[in-house]
Amino acid sequence: MHVIVIGAGIVGVCTAYWLNRHGMQVTVLDRRSGIAQEASFGSAGLAAADHAAPWACPGMPRHLASYMFKAEQPAMLRPAMDPRHWGWLRAWLRQCQAERYAGNLGAMQRLARYSRTCFAELQERHGFEYERRNGTVQLLRSQRDVERSKPARQLMQEHGIPHQLLTPEQAIALDPHLRDASRVGTPLAGAIYYPGDDSGNCPLYARLLAAECERNGVVFRFNAMARPTQDIRGAVAGVQLHDGQALAAQAVVMANGSDATAMLVKLGVRAPLLSITGHAATVPLRDDAIGPRRAFIDQAYGVSFTPLGHRLRIASTTDLGGRRPGTHDKARRTLARAARDWLPGVLDFSRATWWSGACATTPDGPPILGRTRLPGLYLNIGHGAHGWGMAPGAGRIVADAVAGREPGEPLDGLDIARYARKNRG
Ligand SMILES: Cc1cc2nc3c(=O)[nH]c(=O)nc-3n(C[C@H](O)[C@H](O)[C@H](O)COP(=O)(O)OP(=O)(O)OC[C@H]3O[C@@H](n4cnc5c(N)ncnc54)[C@H](O)[C@@H]3O)c2cc1C
Repeated sequence: MHVIVIGAGIVGVCTAYWLNRHGMQVTVLDRRSGIAQEASFGSAGLAAADHAAPWACPGMPRHLASYMFKAEQPAMLRPAMDPRHWGWLRAWLRQCQAERYAGNLGAMQRLARYSRTCFAELQERHGFEYERRNGTVQLLRSQRDVERSKPARQLMQEHGIPHQLLTPEQAIALDPHLRDASRVGTPLAGAIYYPGDDSGNCPLYARLLAAECERNGVVFRFNAMARPTQDIRGAVAGVQLHDGQALAAQAVVMANGSDATAMLVKLGVRAPLLSITGHAATVPLRDDAIGPRRAFIDQAYGVSFTPLGHRLRIASTTDLGGRRPGTHDKARRTLARAARDWLPGVLDFSRATWWSGACATTPDGPPILGRTRLPGLYLNIGHGAHGWGMAPGAGRIVADAVAGREPGEPLDGLDIARYARKNRG
């Protein structure tokens, strides 16, 4: 069976890997000149199963509104005049209700934990070196933030998510660089430690896994813009490339990130997706500086800091809606402010490289995996801000669906069927 995967980001590469392990003939097509050159390139690198939670949560609409008036902010609302954006926002608002949040969190957690077991299996088999660090820490600046984190901690308790509330002293003992932050007056009221989470270099991992795929016969073709083609029954029977060349396949998997939205509209498949844009800076440490031991997140600004060798990936400020190229001033200010607060004198911002990228996200949070109503067409899309952590598990589930195998994790709440009319409203 020949399967075409559209997209060579982390999600497409993981899908190709499992398809290949199931004995399929696999071709991966990407319009870019190499592996992981779009969203996967700038990922903050948190493979954080225990952090995987929907954006749509109780209180988030109020937070979003309050961010609008701040100079530095974790998220911005930038809806275009497109009615689909407003439809997505309405659906997102409905998903912010506590009951729906709990259900969506459950689905994301199931997938994230399954993905963690897939990561572990791949690590045991291949032993990739991808600048991995164990554990993540969420920093809470004020006592109010500690109090506010209570419902989330309770929910984590109910879902069996391992975490530990730390005093400032315990947080400093875990990562001594925080002492310097307190010296410059950055308030630290507590922290939540996630011992089971990981961080690492997403594009490096994608390249290593792709090389493994190639050794096992997967074909990668770059500079190849593709669109699925249908036979007279409407079944997807291959793709057409930008130069008119046709490639036949028994199945096509869309793993094409933020471009999935427009492609699905053309195919007449309804899926509520909106592009969110994330911003990142990769900043070298000063020569004699010692960086943090593990990734941490400044909860107040939504900024994450991930050690990657002698550099740090700093990422945040999610724009919901209209995509504009480049990192805007507000995003740069937010990243630089958080860096100054937590890592005074550690980073050489004069050598920072700035980056922004778009990810398609669903209003409820989980991605969209598996078959569609069009025979031959499968999806692995809508990963939003969690695609790196979810990719190994999502890739395996989709490969199972293509191969007609029982998936390792049930598709309830993860497939496109959840958007059927009866589920809306
Ligand atoms: C700043 C930032 C920080 C992030 N931090 C984290 C994090 O810490 N943890 C986490 O888990 N996730 C994080 N994410 C999210 C994560 O990066 C994405 O969810 C993930 O990379 C999505 O992978 P993908 O393969 O679906 O998409 P992409 O990497 O965008 O890959 C899609 C590919 O499809 C190709 N393509 C599109 N259309 C076509 C076509 N018609 N023909 C051929 N090729 C096509 C593109 O060229 C691209 O290479 C972050 C994202 C950003 C932007």
